[in-house]
Amino acid sequence: MVALSSYRHLASGKVRDLYEVDDETLLLVASDRISAFDHVLSTPIPDKGRVLTAMSVFWFELLGGTDVAAPPVAHHLIAARDERIPEEVRGRALLVRRLEMVPVECVARGYLAGSGTADYRRDGTVCGVPLPDGLTEASMLPSPIFTPATKAAQGEHDENVSFEAVAATVGPELAGALRDQTLAIYARGAAYAASRGLILADTKLEFGLSAEGTPVLGDEVLTPDSSRFWPAEGYEPGHVQPSFDKQYVREWLTSPASGWDRHSGEAPPPLPDEVIAATRERYIEAYTRLTGREWPPAV
Ligand code: ATP
Ligand code: MG
Repeated sequence: MVALSSYRHLASGKVRDLYEVDDETLLLVASDRISAFDHVLSTPIPDKGRVLTAMSVFWFELLGGTDVAAPPVAHHLIAARDERIPEEVRGRALLVRRLEMVPVECVARGYLAGSGTADYRRDGTVCGVPLPDGLTEASMLPSPIFTPATKAAQGEHDENVSFEAVAATVGPELAGALRDQTLAIYARGAAYAASRGLILADTKLEFGLSAEGTPVLGDEVLTPDSSRFWPAEGYEPGHVQPSFDKQYVREWLTSPASGWDRHSGEAPPPLPDEVIAATRERYIEAYTRLTGREWPPAV
């Protein structure tokens, strides 16, 4: 039985921890940590790591499978059940292909939300893409757009950039491939989500490079941490939509109850039990609604 401590720890992001299995293989462990407003909170959300992992596996299998209408997406997942996955992290760890990650957050948006709304209100564009007049919060865009961002250092905010800026950093050919793949994956994710009564408003993907230099989908995919899912029922542009993510957490943190000022530079306070429970329920609901499967998944 392999122990987690037998692997070299390579890095930790806000949510995931990376370990080296061998030269070509990594162990990607999703923790129960939750981040909001660029802070990792001191209170974890029980089962969040398992939910995000199960959801990513669901999508990797769907996207990597052969579909009549779309070619399979190259991705990093090797196995979710494997002897090389230590017992202590089983269910929330994936064995993945080690990749040279491309330092671009590949975002696709089919609707206006978050930083997209903020950018649009400023000058009618998002990441240099001009949009029609008269759009409002949560409006559907005429067609989905690629809105890349630079990966910020821990504690800082990702910054939206133009396609040209990405092309200048990674070369026009790779930039074009990232854009095309991001939009293709968004389209497939959105079509599937629609069949489950959900709107996929936007999503953030991360790619690495294969030995041949082609993009390989890495990290997590189409989870509530990386995407906005809205219930199709009750969808109404003009205000922020209820979503299957950290909404409760953000609302509580910005409410008087928390006593926290997000611009103070101070760490956010611990979450109360009811906010933890409601957030956990929301993550599980995202999984069951999207996949049509029971929680917890059968092992
Ligand atoms: P956030 O996603 O909130 O921006 P983060 O980027 O700080 O957080 P996590 O998602 O917590 O990071 O950690 C995952 C890390 O592992 C990221 O740095 C990601 O680029 C990296 N990673 C994911 N898949 C692979 C892979 N196949 N090979 C190498 N690195 C990977
Ligand atoms: Mg990440």
